[in-house]
Amino acid sequence: MGGTGGIGGMTGVSESEALATLHRVFGYEAFRGEQEAVIEHVVAGGDAVVLMPTGGGKSLCYQIPALVRPGTGVVVSPLIALMQDQVDALRALGVRAGFINSTLDFDERRVVEAEFLAGELDLLYLAPERLRLDATLDLLSRGKISVFAIDEAHCVSQWGHDFRPDYLTLSVLGERWPDVPRIALTATATRATHQEITQRLTMPAARHFVASFDSPNIQYRIVPKADPRKQLLAFLREEHAGDAGIVYCLSRNSVEKTAEFLTANGIEAVPYHAGLDAGTRAAHQARFLREDGLVVVATIAFGMGIDKPDVRFVAHLDLPKSIEGYYQETGRSGRDGLPSTAWMAYGLNDVIQQRKLIQSGEGDEAFRRRAAAHLDSMLALCETVQCRRGQLLAYFGQDPDPAGCGNCDTCLTAPETWDGTIAAQKVLSTVVRLQRERGQKFGAVQIIDILLGKRTGKVIQFDHDQLSVFGIGEELAEGEWRGVVRQLLAQGLLAVEGEYGTLVLTEASGSVLRREREVPLRKEPKKPAVARGSSSSGKGERKAKAVAVELEEELLPAFEALRAWRAEQAREQGVPAYVIFHDATLREIVSRWPGSVAELGTVSGVGEKKLATYGDGVLVVLSSLSAPGTAAGSAQASGVAPDDDWPEPDEEPGPDDWT
Ligand code: ADP
Ligand code: ZN
Repeated sequence: MGGTGGIGGMTGVSESEALATLHRVFGYEAFRGEQEAVIEHVVAGGDAVVLMPTGGGKSLCYQIPALVRPGTGVVVSPLIALMQDQVDALRALGVRAGFINSTLDFDERRVVEAEFLAGELDLLYLAPERLRLDATLDLLSRGKISVFAIDEAHCVSQWGHDFRPDYLTLSVLGERWPDVPRIALTATATRATHQEITQRLTMPAARHFVASFDSPNIQYRIVPKADPRKQLLAFLREEHAGDAGIVYCLSRNSVEKTAEFLTANGIEAVPYHAGLDAGTRAAHQARFLREDGLVVVATIAFGMGIDKPDVRFVAHLDLPKSIEGYYQETGRSGRDGLPSTAWMAYGLNDVIQQRKLIQSGEGDEAFRRRAAAHLDSMLALCETVQCRRGQLLAYFGQDPDPAGCGNCDTCLTAPETWDGTIAAQKVLSTVVRLQRERGQKFGAVQIIDILLGKRTGKVIQFDHDQLSVFGIGEELAEGEWRGVVRQLLAQGLLAVEGEYGTLVLTEASGSVLRREREVPLRKEPKKPAVARGSSSSGKGERKAKAVAVELEEELLPAFEALRAWRAEQAREQGVPAYVIFHDATLREIVSRWPGSVAELGTVSGVGEKKLATYGDGVLVVLSSLSAPGTAAGSAQASGVAPDDDWPEPDEEPGPDDWT
């Protein structure tokens, strides 16, 4: 994490209080990255703007000040659907939390309001539209507020990708409560958005904390799209069998079809999109949060604020509209820090489709220009021959490792480039000839058929075999030509027009036709490269559940037994499993095999309340198993079958298998 820390000392009292709260309530050993500096600053009454990636630990940055300072911490969040779960998770820790949003009826709301006024809440979650109401502002002014937290603060940015007008009214907080510290948090901020947040929320005196946006545990991969559903299936079977994950598609229809396809092929998957009724959506989201290993196939309507730590992959079957969106969506995987994959299939049609969407979409010229700029950055990421992570970090204004990250496809298998100048000229000349000689415009398929000299029905119908460019491109295969056209579109050397996506020249095309510039292109890989666990890490392919990957084999049955126990608890209480304990906590429990309640209390993630609630239960489960190293310490003793999928150690693929 980047450093703003180490400035000034905090008052002895609050430091120990903050740290004591971390230990006692949350059961965590130490602060991470910028957390301590942020908390110290806010506890002392300062304003803060916090940029931290998804999973970086933003919640503690306001939850601990809310617990340490007198009064109630008010959290503004647009994620109404998640408030219940957030509040449940806090209550499971013994924190007095409540929320007010449109899902509460009058009586329920009155109860929460009364608790707030009586000073009985540590944290109160509010939807931003509430703060437009005088009634809400009156309510707040009659209670005592310790801190205002503005979550998903990038929603205030009109330039960003997720603007919410209600956020513009939040500057009222600083005006009405000048003495209450405010903390604005987001996981998505370029320099411009960062500035806009500071300005629109009027936080000129805020201190800024910018964490590293790197999530080294996420492996970024973008593969050429051929048959996306089949490619997805192979990816899931080979690398993420039994794992929870999210598959993003652009349209509702393809969401439905993909979910059906996966289910038909033995992978449990449910759809999620805005066309489903609210009840179905809520049920599918709840299943995703509560069950192990479910796949959700969704439009981008799904996932904002999803706090499921063990999402092992995020797959994109269609191109996202912006890097902000892509980064936010992929950031939903691997929040527990364990290895995860961000996988995307990307092809020519994605580029055409997105360009068409922008042209035919609503909005004025400025809006279109902005959308096009967002898309261009996204395309540059897809086409880069350099480290993907490096591009992402640079986009967010951070300094990547010039040597590459070692955990993205381009680092694992360096893509080849070739001089595509002549190929580019052939494509552009064909477009020019059609237009000049015939007054016609056509899409990519026809252009490529002409280059390949194919006498298709449409080629004959339009006499295109009479063009001088007919058949001048036989040196490349069809897929390679698609790659050329795609890259020309991505580089702005060719453009898409109209509802049929016909190809037209851009201002920059001329320089290619006049041989004033070269066009280096990325070679289309023959087969999708790299599997996880490259030869450099030497870990080999993971076929079984990732969460167990670092456990010794003899501990797996105990881990599975604790998961089964946890699932039962979660079902009984109607909360997600991770509200009971995270996988990381269960892993540590079986590794350390605590013999007493006191010892269990030293495991990360086991705070005071959870120790009291579940301590005995965990110890009972452990005592029913044989401790590692003892004679019968095996699957049989626990009654849990070992996972068949685990490769025998001597079966693990070696480096040669990856090439
Ligand atoms: P964000 O809101 O930034 O996406 P969260 O606040 O949800 O991230 O934190 C991500 C995960 O990391 C959560 O499961 C949280 O409990 C855990 N976590 C946060 N801070 C710590 C810490 N200091 N020690 C251990 N785990 C932590
Ligand atoms: Zn890399």
